[in-house]
Order: sequence, then C-alpha cells, then structure tokens
Amino acid sequence: MNNKTDKVFIVDAGAIFFRKIHGQCITVPEVINEVKDDNSKLYFSVVDVKVKEPSKENVELVKKMAKSTGDIHKLSDTDIKLIALAIEELKNGKDVTILTDDYSIQNLSKNIGIKVESVVKRGIVETFRWIKICKGCGRPLNNKTNICPVCGSEAVIRRVRVEKNRRSN
Ligand SMILES: [Zn+2]
Repeated sequence: MNNKTDKVFIVDAGAIFFRKIHGQCITVPEVINEVKDDNSKLYFSVVDVKVKEPSKENVELVKKMAKSTGDIHKLSDTDIKLIALAIEELKNGKDVTILTDDYSIQNLSKNIGIKVESVVKRGIVETFRWIKICKGCGRPLNNKTNICPVCGSEAVIRRVRVEKNRRSN
C-alpha cells in the first residue's frame, strides 16, 4: 500500500476550539490538558483527535532548528513538541499540515519547510474567541465555572467575534 498521500493535521488548542478539524488529527498530551482546563468537556466531546508523544530525538531536533532561526525564545515546550510531531509524521511519509494561529509556530514551520494553515483565514481583521456564558441569563462566566452563580443555569460555550490587533512585525 502506498501511504504517501495520507494527509495528517497537527492541531493546537486553538484549532480544536475552532472545530475546523477535517481529516486525521494528531496532537500532543499538553494540548489536550490545555483544552480540558480552558473549556471543560463541552467541545472536547465533538472532536476526535489522536494523542501522541513525539520522540526526544525529534524534540531536540526542533530545539536546534529554533535556535538557529531565533524562534526558540518565543516557543513554548508545547509548541516545540507540536512541531516535533509534525517532523515525525513527515519522516513516516505522511503529508503534514500544522493547524495553528500561533505566529511563532507558523514562523518556524515555514522556515523549516512544514506546511502551516491558519485556523482563522488570513487577511480577516476580526477573529473569533470561545467564551463561556450562562444558558439562562447570558452573563459571561469564568472558564472554570459550569453553573451560573446568579441564576443556577448551565454554562454553554459560544463563539464571539473579537477585534484582532494586527501583529506588528
Ligand atoms: Zn445565569
């Protein structure tokens, strides 16, 4: 069998929240923890994402590359692991795209020849955020709150439009 055309997406937390997930998706354990912390299981239940830990060898490789491009200080450990995962999939002959809106991940990925796709389309001045609100009275709730302290209704997650600050570069 020829698996060379297998398309795989490496997704970060933003991509999971946006629910724009199509095809085979993989992420690292840290992203799953992030999703759980920020938005409970409401969204998590709708996505089917494979979780993989990249090899230490590939993590070191990405760190080395990030040092040489100068991106190392802007990348979190999770970011580095996501890119390491992408390299791993590439080595396995997969066609990999990283789905992220994180500028540092995009920057390094482009520098080392990994395809990246923005979750929110380029050129759009506004973007979306997920916020938790009360189903009953509509008040915004803290991310960790599942029951509204005012009316006792359940929390739901809504997509809201926010103004995006253009990144100066
Ligand atoms: Zn309420």
